[in-house]
Amino acid sequence: MSCLFPALDVAPAKPALHFGDQILDYPALRSAALTLAETLRDQSRVAVWATPTPGTAVAVVAALSAGVPVVPLNPRSGARELAHVVGDSEPSLVLAEPGAELPPALAELPVVAVAVEAAGDGREPPAAPAVDPEQPALVVYTSGTTGPPKGVSLSRRAVAATLDALADAWDWTGDDVVVHGLPLFHVHGLVLGVLGPLRRGGTVRHLGRFSADGVRSALASGGTMLFGVPTMYHRLAEAAERDGALAGALAGARLLVSGSAPLPLTDHERIWRATGRRVVERYGMTETLMNTSVRADGPPATGTVGVALPGVEVRLADDAGRPLEAGDGETVGEIQVRGPNLFSGYLNQPEATAGAFDAEGWFRTGDVATRDSTGGYRIVGRRSTDLIKSGGYKIGAGEIENVLLAHPGVAEAAVTAAPDPDLGERVVAWVVPRDPEAPPTLEELSEHVVGQLAAHKRPREVRFLAALPRNELGKVLKRELV
Ligand code: ATP
Ligand code: MG
Repeated sequence: MSCLFPALDVAPAKPALHFGDQILDYPALRSAALTLAETLRDQSRVAVWATPTPGTAVAVVAALSAGVPVVPLNPRSGARELAHVVGDSEPSLVLAEPGAELPPALAELPVVAVAVEAAGDGREPPAAPAVDPEQPALVVYTSGTTGPPKGVSLSRRAVAATLDALADAWDWTGDDVVVHGLPLFHVHGLVLGVLGPLRRGGTVRHLGRFSADGVRSALASGGTMLFGVPTMYHRLAEAAERDGALAGALAGARLLVSGSAPLPLTDHERIWRATGRRVVERYGMTETLMNTSVRADGPPATGTVGVALPGVEVRLADDAGRPLEAGDGETVGEIQVRGPNLFSGYLNQPEATAGAFDAEGWFRTGDVATRDSTGGYRIVGRRSTDLIKSGGYKIGAGEIENVLLAHPGVAEAAVTAAPDPDLGERVVAWVVPRDPEAPPTLEELSEHVVGQLAAHKRPREVRFLAALPRNELGKVLKRELV
């Protein structure tokens, strides 16, 4: 028996879902979800049109209660991507809030409307059936940062394991009100931001659309934890410097958590200066759910993604896949993980699935990092795009990006490799200047980098642009920087 939401049966009439000014308490969520679940039992897999609304949460809880796997769809994805996701995952129907405008790519599928108000006939809905924990709970598509999104099949066991490990790391309880404005079709917003609070018996406080004002008022009116991606914390840092009430609200939160991409050191420092609070980073992937986190009860460890979560084995491996006994904070290796949080496989891609694991079941993340003597990991970046091999050195893009961002003339920065006849690869800096009329020069930026890092890490070339290409989670799409 695997019950993902034990609180559904016992929680008193306290808010479960609070989206904008719509509030559903636990009895209402239970009634709406179990009533819908009854109609879903014979389905093999259902898609959810994952708008940032309470209906999305009700639909997901309903399907999971019925033991039916869910494919969350990005309502803002283009026709091609949507057709790929639907063709790949083959849902038998789509759940959407009444009045949702569904695109032609979904025209073939039956649509079931999600009633957000509890069914009013007073009838007790049937109890949720017992479901094998190894059954798939979700098929979530990766962010598509490095290539086409891959469908990742996540078991109920993996979802439960990751949420319980985070509860341990963050002292996360049913008293917590989790504030965020994340999209609900990725792991961050859906698994951590919705299923997480519901598993604990706490409250989801979704902003509908992220804004600094929304964060301020949600935290000022009872929010205890904030989840966000780095671009959101960047905006909060800028706003908190001007807005004392926002700074005060952030200072009053129990935990500020960032993930999905690296949080630049400049933003860490700005938030700390404005609020006296340290943002906690955690590291995960669609395939692994969460692997590491800075702990609520541990040292702030700014610039690291913390230590292995309970139950998760994390190690660094060399290019040949051999484990590194690194603890020196300098040796770079690929992060490999093993544990109950891991996915069951890529949908329809047995070869990619097999290729992602070694013979002992370690998953190769493709991310590279160092580990310090306390077991804390510092992410260098992705092996494919962030590790530059230049003049015999391995250079991490992130370290240079952090230094570039500290230059007063730089608003955004990304570092990539370009082929170089001499060096193998050379460091290229992509810079969004603060003042487009007076961008910093290559010489200035190179000197600035050499002032803080070794000379071989200096950019050999700088290219200016108006904004970095990013996806909806704010991840920089380096494959477009060519
Ligand atoms: P795709 O796999 O389709 O190319 P993606 O890897 O961006 O896209 P996700 O599964 O959403 O898709 O993201 C996981 C990746 O996000 C990790 O492999 C890592 O590179 C990055 N990441 C997540 N959290 C952090 C963090 N705290 N710091 C740095 N990078 C992070
Ligand atoms: Mg990935």
